[in-house]
Amino acid sequence: MSDRPGRTAYAPVTEMVVRDLEAILGASGVTVDEDKRMAYSADETLPRFERDYPADAVCFPETTEQVSAVMRYANLNLIPVTPRGAGTGLSGGAVPAHGGIVLSLERMNRIIEIDAVNRTLTTEPGVITSEITRAARERGLFYAGDPCSGDISFIGGNVAENAGGNKVIKYGATGQHVLGLEAVLPDGRVVEFGGKRRKDVTGYDFIHLITGSEGTLAVVTRIILNLLPLPRRVTDLLVPVPDIGSAVRLVSLVMTEGGIVPSSVEFMDRQSILNVEKYAGMKVPFSEDAGAYLIIQLDGMDRSSLWRDAERIGDICAGNGALEVFVAEDRSSRDRIWRIRRLVAEEEWTGSMPLLSKEDIVVPCGAIPDFMNELPTIARRHRATYNAYGHIADGNIHLTLFPEDAAGPEDLHDRSDRLRRDLYSRVESLGGALSGEHGVGLKRAAYTPMFLNEAGIDLIRSVKRAFDPNNILNPGKIVPHA
Ligand SMILES: Cc1cc2nc3c(=O)[nH]c(=O)nc-3n(C[C@H](O)[C@H](O)[C@H](O)COP(=O)(O)OP(=O)(O)OC[C@H]3O[C@@H](n4cnc5c(N)ncnc54)[C@H](O)[C@@H]3O)c2cc1C
Repeated sequence: MSDRPGRTAYAPVTEMVVRDLEAILGASGVTVDEDKRMAYSADETLPRFERDYPADAVCFPETTEQVSAVMRYANLNLIPVTPRGAGTGLSGGAVPAHGGIVLSLERMNRIIEIDAVNRTLTTEPGVITSEITRAARERGLFYAGDPCSGDISFIGGNVAENAGGNKVIKYGATGQHVLGLEAVLPDGRVVEFGGKRRKDVTGYDFIHLITGSEGTLAVVTRIILNLLPLPRRVTDLLVPVPDIGSAVRLVSLVMTEGGIVPSSVEFMDRQSILNVEKYAGMKVPFSEDAGAYLIIQLDGMDRSSLWRDAERIGDICAGNGALEVFVAEDRSSRDRIWRIRRLVAEEEWTGSMPLLSKEDIVVPCGAIPDFMNELPTIARRHRATYNAYGHIADGNIHLTLFPEDAAGPEDLHDRSDRLRRDLYSRVESLGGALSGEHGVGLKRAAYTPMFLNEAGIDLIRSVKRAFDPNNILNPGKIVPHA
């Protein structure tokens, strides 16, 4: 039995509970197999948690009615339930912090409808995001919310995390594309908000409260997404620059002087590039001189206006300190540019080095140079090395910190905590936030009070209580226990 801090204890998942769940879902809809329970109790968070948080049972509902019945049962019996998408989360959101039931949405995997007239796509939550992008494209339409994990994550997980990615600067994060939701409340009641309409101020904006709530308020069972006209042309530019300050200045000039909003602006620091060169045995142009690299992507309907914009960006870059501008219009040169960005992330996942921390901080764009200039001092203070990359036009920096010296797990844990507090306090003072897109989850819940005052934390707890008075839905996430 696991404890519910500050309140009564959660009930255990007994054999009788498993039989009751099987009565709702059928025998193939529930498992207590140990390997499965372990596999469904972890996500992609790095560094790994110091201990396992095993689920007692994993459930696989196929319909909203089944989700509703499981939630009603769990609520009446005080059993914690953790919703789960594809388990690609980077903050432990899908990790069952108090055991109980993991509710996998993987069998709710149908795209229900594409409505070309209303430009909407209606889907169940367990569809892989890139399938949504592909289905829309086949109808000449565009789903713009695809995060970098689009090939492996589910749309329901994207909604729950309000996932970002590299197109946020032009198209916004996932929440911007959600027009309607069906969701199951912790007591099993089904609610519907929004629809195919593009305006609706009837009552509170529950769509955007549930979006990004990390599965703590309701289980999302159906989503209506906004689709856009499909951009026919794409061009990418790779721009090595002397330092991160030049990169930030260039991004700002492209948008203000150039009047151009790129569909992506990604950056990688020098160390990220050096890591890729070593990992992939390749040579990235200008890697001896460049302090940072920008990848700028443009999309649009016709080749000539895109080409004009690319030239304009090239002129701005050349006149403002860029070391070079490589323009890629054909598929294979574009793939070569994005391969570098993909390898930066891949190298970290396959790397055997112990990690101190993997962060997703966000600051106002203008504060990036200050932050990046202070990073070496912060890292030195904690005997750490690092590399940084991410979505520079959103101020969102993915920062990976490694211990300079060999260290055991205990030491790493304490050092990681000290380092993160130091880092976050600087981020906060620059007007930044704890996470730009990966979420707070279990990994960062202890640090939310560094960014929200007591009234803000109280409000989060009150909203949680209004949805989930028994605290059975994904407990232990977002804020520290009361
Ligand atoms: C290589 C890699 C690249 C990534 N790139 C990006 C990126 O560019 N941008 C970005 O934002 N993230 C990125 N991520 C993180 C991750 O892919 C996203 O957070 C994604 O949205 C998680 O989706 P999932 O289906 O895997 O959800 P899970 O990890 O299974 O769950 C995430 C959270 O959502 C909740 N949840 C899941 N489904 C539901 C539902 N139906 N109803 C209610 N709650 C639910 C869970 O309880 C949990 O709190 C990346 C991860 C990896 C491994």
